[in-house]
Amino acid sequence: MGEDATLGDFVEGEDGSPGNRRESGETDAAGIEPARTTYAFVPDGGTCEACGELSEGRWHQDGDLVCSTCKEW
Ligand SMILES: [Zn+2]
Repeated sequence: MGEDATLGDFVEGEDGSPGNRRESGETDAAGIEPARTTYAFVPDGGTCEACGELSEGRWHQDGDLVCSTCKEW
């Protein structure tokens, strides 16, 4: 009897838990937005607009394309 009641409570709580849904939603929004703006890697060769060095790959930063050295992580 004790076991049965515990199992039932557990399943009900997991199924209708609002906290569970809210947590995953926040993680999605927070994880996608900053990743798009800060991690925009451009895999082409070019000159860094901050230091002028030739770089094989550059990142978007404040509207400029900069090398990995100048990119502010
Ligand atoms: Zn640079």
